[in-house]
Amino acid sequence: MTNMNPKETCDVLVVGWGGAGSAAAISACDAGADVILIEKSAQGGGSTALCLGSLCIPTSMEFADYLDAIGFKTAEREVIDTYTKVAMDTPDFIKKLGGDLTPLVVLQIGYPRTLSGAGFPKAPKAEFMRKMTVTKEAGGGAELTGPRLWNLLKRNVESRKIRVMTNTPAKELVKNDSGEIIGVIAERAGEKFFIKAKKAVILTAGGYENNNAMLWEYYASKPIKFLGNPLNTGDAIRMLQKAGAAMWHMTNMVCSIAYQSPEFEAAFPVACCGTDFLYVDKHGKRFMCEATGDIHEFGHAVAHFDTQRIEFPAIPAYIIFGEQTRKRAPLFGGKIGNNVNLYKWSLDNSAEIAKGWIIQAKNPAELAKKIPTMDPATIEATIAKFNEACKSGKDAEFKRAKEDMSAITGPFYAIPIHPALFCTQGGGRRDKEGRVLDPDGKPIPRLYEAGELGAISGWLYQGSTSLADCIIFGQISGKNAAAEKSIEGSN
Ligand SMILES: Cc1cc2nc3c(=O)[nH]c(=O)nc-3n(C[C@H](O)[C@H](O)[C@H](O)COP(=O)(O)OP(=O)(O)OC[C@H]3O[C@@H](n4cnc5c(N)ncnc54)[C@H](O)[C@@H]3O)c2cc1C
Repeated sequence: MTNMNPKETCDVLVVGWGGAGSAAAISACDAGADVILIEKSAQGGGSTALCLGSLCIPTSMEFADYLDAIGFKTAEREVIDTYTKVAMDTPDFIKKLGGDLTPLVVLQIGYPRTLSGAGFPKAPKAEFMRKMTVTKEAGGGAELTGPRLWNLLKRNVESRKIRVMTNTPAKELVKNDSGEIIGVIAERAGEKFFIKAKKAVILTAGGYENNNAMLWEYYASKPIKFLGNPLNTGDAIRMLQKAGAAMWHMTNMVCSIAYQSPEFEAAFPVACCGTDFLYVDKHGKRFMCEATGDIHEFGHAVAHFDTQRIEFPAIPAYIIFGEQTRKRAPLFGGKIGNNVNLYKWSLDNSAEIAKGWIIQAKNPAELAKKIPTMDPATIEATIAKFNEACKSGKDAEFKRAKEDMSAITGPFYAIPIHPALFCTQGGGRRDKEGRVLDPDGKPIPRLYEAGELGAISGWLYQGSTSLADCIIFGQISGKNAAAEKSIEGSN
C-alpha cells in the first residue's frame, strides 16, 4: 500500500471527529499544520455530542495524587502530572475558542447521584476535583451541556477551514520501511484509498463500547451494554495492535446503570427520583447501597461471579420501586446518550409499563412470577426487611441513609438494569507528549492519540476526566504532531 499514490496529502491526519479529534485538529492547525480530519459517521460528534459535557478542571496540581491513587498507579506519574497541569489550563483553551465555563449543575436529582465533585471523596486530595461545563451563551445555544461543547468545537474546526471528510472510516495505519506512520488507508463509498500524512497521524476514534467481542474479551462483568455513539467499535484498537502498540487500561469499565430495550441499539441510562426503591440481583437479594457510590462504577459493583451457579447474579439486576418513584419523574431523564433524540420516555413511566419495559405487579409474589429468575421468598423478605429499615431509619445491611429511604408499598414495579458504558479507556499506552508507545516503551514514530482511546484512567474512573482528556491530549498531540519534521524534509 505504501507504493500507492496518495489520494489526499496533509501534514497531520486526525482520525475520528469527536471531542479529541476536534481539539487535536484545532491545535495542529493553529500550530501551522495542514490538517485533514476523517470521520466514520455522516456528521461527527461521536460520544462527545451525546454526553453530559462535564469537564474535570482541578483546582490544584495536588489533584495528581488523587488521579494516581484511584488509577492504582497504572499511568506514569509524569503523564498524570501533565494531564493535571493542562487540565487546569482548560478554561484558557475554551476561552480561545470563544467559549466560557461554569460549574456543573446536576440536571436530574436522583439516584445514583451524579456528584459535582470527586467520585471517591475518601481518596487523597479529592478536594481539588472540580467539574465544569460550557455555558449556553458561549456554547452555540444548545440546551443540553454535551452538545454545547460539541457545537463550540465544531464551529472552531469549521471556521479554520480544516478539511473534514465524513463517511470516511480509517481502515489501516500505513508504515514506511523505517517504521514511521505515514498515513492511513481509508474507505469511502466502497473505495479504499491512501491518505498521506507528512508529519503524523493522531488517532482519536473513541472507544470500543459497541464491540461485543472486545467487551467480552476485556471486561470482567458480562454482558455489558453501551450508552453513547454506536460507531465506536474499537477500530483504532485493532489499528494500534497491528502497528505494534503497547496497550493499556483495556479493562477499565466506566459503567452506569441502564435499561436495554430490545428496540434500541444503545441502552437508556436510568435513575430513580423517589426514595422508595431498591436494587436486587436476579434472585431478589440486595447487593449494594443504592443511594451512594459513584455513578460510573456500576460495572465493578456487579462484577461478583457465583461459581456454584455459574452466573453473574446481578447481571441483570432489577430496580424494584413503588408509586412515589414511578410518579415523580421518568426513569430516563432524556438528557444524555444516543437515545436522547430517538425516544421520549413518558413523564410518569406509564408508557413504558404499557410497553412491558417496566414490569408491574400487585405484590412481590406476582413480581417473582413475572421474572423467572426471581425467588418469591427472597424478594418478599428483601422488600419486608427494607420497609422495616425505613421505619427504624437504620439500614443495617448497606447503611443507606434514612433520608434516602421510604417504604415500597404496592403496586410494585421492576425494571431490569445492566452495567452500560459511558466510555472505555483502553488504547495505546501513551507518554506525556501524546505519543503512542511500543512494548519497549519507545514511541512509534509519528503516531499520536487523544481522548478516550488510550485515556489515563487505569482502574477506578473519575467522572469528567474522559472528556477532559479530549481537550488535554487533543492539544498536546495536535501541537506535537504539527512540530514533527516533515517526511519530505522540510518543516
Ligand atoms: C451518556 C454519556 C455521558 C457522558 N458524560 C460525560 C461527561 O459528562 N464527562 C466526561 O468526561 N465524559 C463523559 N462521557 C464520556 C465522554 O463522552 C467520552 O469519553 C468522550 O466524549 C470521548 O471523546 P472522543 O473524542 O475520544 O471520542 P468520540 O467523541 O466518541 O469521537 C470518536 C469519533 O471517531 C469516529 N470513529 C470511530 N471509528 C472510526 C474510524 N475507523 N475512522 C474514522 N472515525 C472513526 C466516531 O464515529 C466518533 O465520531 C459520557 C459518555 C456518554 C455516552
